[in-house]
Amino acid sequence: MFEKILIANRGEIALRIQRACREMGIKTVVVHSEADAEAKYVKLADESVCIGPAPSSASYLNVPAIISAAEVTDAEAIHPGYGFLSENADFAERVEQSGFVFIGPRAETIRMMGDKVSAKNAMKKAGIPVVPGIDSVLPDDPKEIIKIAREIGYPVIVKAAGGGGGRGMRVVHTEAALLNAVSTTRAEAGAAFNNPAVYIEKYLEKPRHIEIQILADKHRNAIFLGDRDCSMQRRHQKVIEEAPAPHINSRSRLRIGERCAEACRKIGYVGAGTFEFLYENGEFFFIEMNTRIQVEHPVTEMITGIDIVQQQIRIAFGERLPIKQRDVQLKGHAIECRINAEDPYKFTPSPGRITSLHMPGGPGIRVDSHAYNGYFVPPNYDSLIGKIIAYGDTREQAIARLNIALSETVIEGIKTNISLHQDLIHDGAFVRGGTSIHYLEEKLAKLASKA
Ligand code: ADP
Repeated sequence: MFEKILIANRGEIALRIQRACREMGIKTVVVHSEADAEAKYVKLADESVCIGPAPSSASYLNVPAIISAAEVTDAEAIHPGYGFLSENADFAERVEQSGFVFIGPRAETIRMMGDKVSAKNAMKKAGIPVVPGIDSVLPDDPKEIIKIAREIGYPVIVKAAGGGGGRGMRVVHTEAALLNAVSTTRAEAGAAFNNPAVYIEKYLEKPRHIEIQILADKHRNAIFLGDRDCSMQRRHQKVIEEAPAPHINSRSRLRIGERCAEACRKIGYVGAGTFEFLYENGEFFFIEMNTRIQVEHPVTEMITGIDIVQQQIRIAFGERLPIKQRDVQLKGHAIECRINAEDPYKFTPSPGRITSLHMPGGPGIRVDSHAYNGYFVPPNYDSLIGKIIAYGDTREQAIARLNIALSETVIEGIKTNISLHQDLIHDGAFVRGGTSIHYLEEKLAKLASKA
């Protein structure tokens, strides 16, 4: 096994990866910005290297600084976590060219999946059902664009081929609004992703977001670890995630999961990955693949008993998957709440010092958080300060435990979204399960109109 791994990330995921390494007896090197010098995982690391000032562009996205940190500390492999450089094919390539192992898929796979048009095409070819649309980026000719949208049928959604993080998307309901939407999305995509290419697909009106977690080794073995429901979203960003997805029968889950695993074998996928689908009227439609660990991975770990981060490391080292598909058993139910430092209803970020902190515990509760009493939440990064995950034999038990856990949690000095979560887990539609991706925003709009 590797002796030393460099963790090229921050926050709760840096701590999560570090815990996996420590359990496996692997030494850790943590790189950090000046703003994160006091972080818990920096203190717990075997070695740490400051790679730059607070802005991510000068630190967590600073490729030469990260590579030289790996060189001076003799790390053998680099774990990119999520966000930052995790889906940057050039970074994966640089890591390998510099003689380190990149813990993730091959650079060419990341490149293919990073372009949503080529990803959709590759998946269609591999037998995965995709959202109806065109199989290339939109041409410049306005007449052609109008013709394509007519063929797909309104409403359509214009999406940036290189988009991510829920940005670079625009819904179009009528032909009159089409060309304007295309040019605005192009301009936005050019500025945000350095790639103005856009494509269009059918806009599904009431879908759920359901995704399949897979693991694939370097020996063409691939398995899927069930599904997750991440439909509770605001601005295309997930707020609550759970596994398994409620009300999906095990035959459909098995069928779509098996197709994903087969697609991985076909394209020679390596590592952990997620196939994201929209699910409507009993059908799955592929939207994109994430070629990295995801924020919501713990819910899958809770119901399968498989440590996905450890598996990523073992796969990168060249080991074979230790389990076959028939050994993957989904047991019980798990729900995750993302705890953000923000106003619970206005969503304005709330960085600052935590003056009092008590995290919950008890049966079935897992807390993944780098926060501690006295921790200063820096204003420079996303607002995620941790995740509370509840496991139960049934979904009802998981919700009941989550309710207790949220009520025990105390975080003072900054605002958090805990009260929103408390509201949501008591919401009748959530309790029944199976709400669409629009549910949360509709609920928030109703609350706002009452206020
Ligand atoms: P990103 O890479 O920015 O996360 P995705 O393609 O994964 O973008 O889409 C994010 C979210 O946007 C989905 O979970 C869904 O809520 C919404 N969305 C994307 N494509 C469609 C579509 N064709 N119809 C309806 N909603 C969509």
